[in-house]
Amino acid sequence: MTDCPALLAVNDIADWHETADVVVVGFGIAGACAALEARRGGADVLVAERASGGGGASALSSGLFYLGGGTPVQQAVGVEDTPENMYKFLMASTCAPDAALVRCFCDGAVEHFNWLETQGVTFERSYFKGKTVELNTSNEGLCGTGNEKVWPFRDIAPPAARGHRVSRPGQYCGAMATQALIARCQEEGVRVSYDTQATALVADPAGRIIGVRLRSAGQERHVRARKAVVLATGGFSASQEMMAEFAPQMLENCEALGVPYNDGAGMRLGRSAGGALQAMSGLIATASFYPPAQLIKGILVNSRGERFVAEDSYHGRTASFIMEQPDRKAYLIVDAEIFAYPEITYLGHRLVDGWESTAEMEAGLDLPNGSLQRTMADYSRHAAAGKDPAFFKHPDWVKPLDQGPWAAFDVSFHHSRYLFITLGGLKVNARAEVLSEQGSPIRGLYAAGACASTIPQDGKGYASGLSLGPGSFFGRVAGREAAGA
Ligand SMILES: Cc1cc2nc3c(=O)[nH]c(=O)nc-3n(C[C@H](O)[C@H](O)[C@H](O)COP(=O)(O)OP(=O)(O)OC[C@H]3O[C@@H](n4cnc5c(N)ncnc54)[C@H](O)[C@@H]3O)c2cc1C
Repeated sequence: MTDCPALLAVNDIADWHETADVVVVGFGIAGACAALEARRGGADVLVAERASGGGGASALSSGLFYLGGGTPVQQAVGVEDTPENMYKFLMASTCAPDAALVRCFCDGAVEHFNWLETQGVTFERSYFKGKTVELNTSNEGLCGTGNEKVWPFRDIAPPAARGHRVSRPGQYCGAMATQALIARCQEEGVRVSYDTQATALVADPAGRIIGVRLRSAGQERHVRARKAVVLATGGFSASQEMMAEFAPQMLENCEALGVPYNDGAGMRLGRSAGGALQAMSGLIATASFYPPAQLIKGILVNSRGERFVAEDSYHGRTASFIMEQPDRKAYLIVDAEIFAYPEITYLGHRLVDGWESTAEMEAGLDLPNGSLQRTMADYSRHAAAGKDPAFFKHPDWVKPLDQGPWAAFDVSFHHSRYLFITLGGLKVNARAEVLSEQGSPIRGLYAAGACASTIPQDGKGYASGLSLGPGSFFGRVAGREAAGA
């Protein structure tokens, strides 16, 4: 990877300006959880945060935490779930999962939920049963945010809603979570240095990480970490160089979600110490055509006039498949019975036109002769029996598209507004230790949140909440382990 800072040796350090037991780099959700748990483990903790306040991308987020296994919200609203079912689902939907790490998350998810509430991050005991992307105007504490009901996952584990949303309506309710956690850090004596950027790690002769170089107001200082350093700097979507290296297709016309300091610093620092990177091309991109949910009863076709995904897939999964189609082109086809405009207007899914026949629609969309007519005839024939043998769309969303006139929306990558976050990062184990290329832990170095690669690794397997959920969970793990290191 280009542009990694040099790893400093003890001999490079003339003076240690400051000492802490644990230094946490970054004060978003992962850093706040790490700092709090390290402090409660008896450590003197210093957080270095590049911005003038804490929160990072976490504070901008929608506040959805992927948690399950029988949380108090799930129990209160009658959603049955077990750690085992959650584990089965995540193992099936994650590419190259680390079984021990997934197991640790699933077994600890209920305890983690309770811990979050104890810190003041609360969740309403209510359930939004519909299919949507954002709960901006309501306050439900639980909704389905992934592919649990989508084939093949519904056959692997009984589906359960696991998207837990903090109690505050509105778009940026993640701030409610970060504010509560930062307040607990302040009350409990975590030291925080704002406007302070970590620029290098320091290692002892055995390769153990023993400190960091920090820069604030143009001055550099070296902080000795008696026990460990935790990296929690977020993703890399704000780094043009890293995006060009790992996900160049997203530079074309997409919008990165996050803060400007999500520039991959943690990955570059970890790499300088010999840390391995994982799933770096993985990202969740989305330009959801639903809500309204009735549009899911339509079909998506590519420029060959063929279907390519079950339309009831979670929007990130659908977007991943769209990006694999020729020229990344796709159309949503609906009939008169289900016609509606996509509600999220800023995603820019343009109505192409309406047509009196499928033959005219095929010509209007410039699709190969007979292709769309064949696809629609096949689909509608099976749909009349409530079936979708091609992609196994759930029967709830299957209906013949036989009520003309018909319309198409352009959901192509180049004609819509795709938003994304990165999922790749430092490879870590279930103890949040940064691992080398050989798989051995780098002593004294931990990573959590979006600068680490834990459970979600690509958009096909992503469920909303899989950043804040594992990010806060493994942030705590990192803090505890660091304090005990
Ligand atoms: C609009 C939006 C909605 C989202 N909704 C959800 C959702 O509902 N659920 C979900 O799970 N995910 C969601 N995400 C993704 C999620 O918010 C992030 O993946 C997650 O918050 C990352 O947490 P983090 O603690 O790793 O990083 P961040 O919260 O970004 O914190 C990293 C911090 O590190 C600091 N930093 C960076 N470099 C340095 C350095 N060199 N030295 C010191 N400090 C540094 C940054 O300034 C920042 O404050 C959303 C993201 C956005 C933008």
